[in-house]
Amino acid sequence: MQYEPVVGIEIHCQMNTATKMFCFCDNDSFGADPNTNVCPICMGFPGMLPAINEECVKKGILSALALNCEIPEFSKYDRKNYFYPDLPKGFQISQYDKPVSQNGYVDIMVGSSQKRIRINRLHLEDDAGKLTHVGGGTLCDYNRSGSPLMEIVTEADIRSVEEASAYAQEIQRIMRYVGSSDCDMEKGMMRFDINVSLRPLGEEKFGTKAEVKNLNSFRALEEALAYEIKRQTEILESGGTIVQETRGWDPDKQVTVSQRSKEEANDYRYFPEPDLPPLVVTEKEVAHLRGELPELPLARRHRFIQEFGLSQEDAGILTDTRVMADFFENVVAVSKDAKKSVAFVNTILLKHLKEDGIDIAACKIQPQQLGKLITLVNEGTISNNQAKGEVFEEMYTTGEDPEKIIEEKGLKQVSDTGAIEEICKKVIEANPGPAQDVREGKDKAIGFLVGMVMKESKGQANPQMVNEMLRRKLQAFQMPNNK
Ligand SMILES: [Zn+2]
Repeated sequence: MQYEPVVGIEIHCQMNTATKMFCFCDNDSFGADPNTNVCPICMGFPGMLPAINEECVKKGILSALALNCEIPEFSKYDRKNYFYPDLPKGFQISQYDKPVSQNGYVDIMVGSSQKRIRINRLHLEDDAGKLTHVGGGTLCDYNRSGSPLMEIVTEADIRSVEEASAYAQEIQRIMRYVGSSDCDMEKGMMRFDINVSLRPLGEEKFGTKAEVKNLNSFRALEEALAYEIKRQTEILESGGTIVQETRGWDPDKQVTVSQRSKEEANDYRYFPEPDLPPLVVTEKEVAHLRGELPELPLARRHRFIQEFGLSQEDAGILTDTRVMADFFENVVAVSKDAKKSVAFVNTILLKHLKEDGIDIAACKIQPQQLGKLITLVNEGTISNNQAKGEVFEEMYTTGEDPEKIIEEKGLKQVSDTGAIEEICKKVIEANPGPAQDVREGKDKAIGFLVGMVMKESKGQANPQMVNEMLRRKLQAFQMPNNK
């Protein structure tokens, strides 16, 4: 029997606010010694009183708007109670039945086709601490506890590993465009939980699902999902039943392992957080935030294809980050040549940056300079090969203007017609054989003559101009013979 995977994803993104969600501790603890970035509020000491960080709410709503969510006027925080050493308060402050946003969607590209994934909700909650198991014991670090998180929950609309991966990557792009989360996987700023079930192809009813928690890279997401689909298929095909449970991913053994039977919502004994007032967001505030939304990655990608005639693939690469897309647009604004701009940015610049492990934001070449370089090629000041070769290399290393480099290296092509004309004349006289061949229509010979002129001009003549001039001259000589 053919089975269809039915997958929902919950993504936790750590927001990049200055302070934590309910206290004034620094939100960035990266590299700090354990338990040095904490206070009585995020440590959950008795009598502590949380206060809502306005920046978190604003960035949360902005992110939700980017996911096309509705923003209800009224939302509230709830306590989610569970007892674990990473949670000194004994509860997490989350949002249960009245989240800050709901009913949105994200369009994703899977290969070259577009698909819509519905978003159930984006809600706000605070993070727990971090446990490290060493030897026979466990070390607790609470630097991360109280950090603001957005939890983004899809409907079960995902049907394959490719869709899951495309969705997760699109969320990363969107949050980075919006500027609400850096989504740096290596720093644990983005984590995935997946709900996976199978159903016979064509069947409406969902099967029993298993959840795989705490996947912290795109690769782990893809591998764990592929494994889970395979595992459940094998169970169903051998007549077994799927157990509803929470599983973990073991990247070394490449398997998911059962951790516990799945909790139900009422296991957490949710109740409204008594120490925080409900959130009231007016229509006017929502409209104001909507006005702050940047053009989002997929819209920009479509526009690049329309406006600049880019391929899907090029447009995807060039809109991957906002800095990248801005860079490209600034190159085109100066060069007025989208096709050459793609060639310079995608095939030359990005290759260099990738090899050197440098982010485009730290690139020494300014987009305007690259645009100017392309203009210089189009105006015939230098050849395409020189531009892509030594001029680009020098710009890349020094950040110097292309005009200055061309001047200093003496690379400027001679486009002075008088000087080139003189050389052409000399070359024709010195090579009567090939010149005659061209006159007789043997086109191959023109290459030889162009080469001689280039050599004579020490490579500084504009080859296209030389070619035209030689043809003109040789045709002119031809005229009298025809009469
Ligand atoms: Zn604190």
